[in-house]
Amino acid sequence: MAPAPPVMGVRDSEAMVLRFERATMREIRIPLLRPFAIATGVTTERRVLLLRLWAEDGRSVWSECVAGESPDYSAETVDTAWLAVGDWLIPRILGRTVGRPSEVAAPLSRGIRGHRMARAAVEMAFWTLAAERRDVSLSRLLGGVRDSVPSAFTLSLAASVQELVEQARLRSREGYRRLKVKIRPGADRERLSPLREELGEELSIAADANGAYGREDTRSLECLDGFGLSTLEQPLAPGDLRRHAELQRRLRTPVGLDESVDSPERAEDMIALKSARHLNVKPGRVGGFGPSLAIHARCREAGIPLWCGGMLETGLGRAYNVALASLPGFELPGDIYPPTLYLTEDIITERWTVGADGTLAVPRGRGVGVEVDRDRVEDLTVRKRTLRV
Ligand code: MG
Repeated sequence: MAPAPPVMGVRDSEAMVLRFERATMREIRIPLLRPFAIATGVTTERRVLLLRLWAEDGRSVWSECVAGESPDYSAETVDTAWLAVGDWLIPRILGRTVGRPSEVAAPLSRGIRGHRMARAAVEMAFWTLAAERRDVSLSRLLGGVRDSVPSAFTLSLAASVQELVEQARLRSREGYRRLKVKIRPGADRERLSPLREELGEELSIAADANGAYGREDTRSLECLDGFGLSTLEQPLAPGDLRRHAELQRRLRTPVGLDESVDSPERAEDMIALKSARHLNVKPGRVGGFGPSLAIHARCREAGIPLWCGGMLETGLGRAYNVALASLPGFELPGDIYPPTLYLTEDIITERWTVGADGTLAVPRGRGVGVEVDRDRVEDLTVRKRTLRV
């Protein structure tokens, strides 16, 4: 892969001392307001792995691991991440000094395959510490250029067609720039037709299959071309880059990949094979901000617009996504609507809100820009582990 061109911002300007001495891992549990269903599984309660890491000067930062409850989106789960973070990753970084946050990827990945969501939770904490040390926002550290980021709302497969239309109407009135509809074989045209009839051609609608279609479904995927989708996301299985390329050649609709691209190398393959015209970046899926920035640089060069995906994060995880989505290559609305729309409660002191223009404001304060409500986190904690140098 070609070296990533420099991104503006202050991220690698000069070395500093970045070192953590102590870490607390917690699992918290938050029920969802309603079941969230995708083609491969249903979530009713979020089990979230949170990390708090203390630097040698007593400063602490929080990060969130986006691994889910079951291996339906990726092989990682909150339980595998608990093992990876506590037994392999945190012990490698406690007491270790790095000069730049980009340098932590090497010790986190040496001799460890996969576990990217676990690695990302640790790696991203170093970026936040660096932002705090520089007295800048995480967005600014990463090279962000936007003051606000457009938000897309996701409609899950758990909603009936009538609920789908009602929610879509509501979100569209609220100003959302794009709606993303979860689909699967047998529940695609049936859901997209009433939406188009109800909301007209103006609204930007994307559909996400989470890899549920197979080789035998080419005809039904071709039929989706008639709906004028802004993106058809991950129609085929994650490993099928070549078949995605064949499909993209047959479709007018831009294919967008998510699960298929878990590293800068896979992004490079996607570009070389022309597997998709859009790309969803989730920092957790690719191992953190370092790989996200490399993908961002390469996709800008190749003219591939990006959007930031979502993993039903708390308000803390959303803040990490908003910072990334403020970069210039994130031209499509991100799947980063407020957690109050899916979680029964949140763990940050202020709430994320979407403005009338369908955007979220990028925090300008130092670091990640949101404050964790420590009492709420304590109440929600079901297990906890502390590690020291
Ligand atoms: Mg997706």
